[in-house]
Amino acid sequence: MAIINCVVCKNEIKEKYVVKKISFKYIVICAECDKNFSTEELEFVINLFQAFGGHFGKFKISPRYKQKVVKELLYKENTENPANSSLKFKLNAIYRALLLGINFKEMQLTINNI
Ligand SMILES: [Zn+2]
Repeated sequence: MAIINCVVCKNEIKEKYVVKKISFKYIVICAECDKNFSTEELEFVINLFQAFGGHFGKFKISPRYKQKVVKELLYKENTENPANSSLKFKLNAIYRALLLGINFKEMQLTINNI
């Protein structure tokens, strides 16, 4: 049997998989990524990884550090170069958070709590 890897997290799909239509093509993702991302988020995430490389959770961190890391990414963005708090910097923070295995819900939860 062929081994299928999730397009988003690159993990081998051993049980349930989900087929999604993104833009004009079909992708196969694992049940966990299906739970973590909406269809719109998936399109954004896949484009981001295609452009810059990597995958969701490439440098996975423990859930207990996620909030702290999101705060650091946002804080760094706002203090290092406040004049440059542009879309580019926000994209960079989001990209880095995704590499660490932090999904949009977790990012938003942290932002809401700052
Ligand atoms: Zn996955």
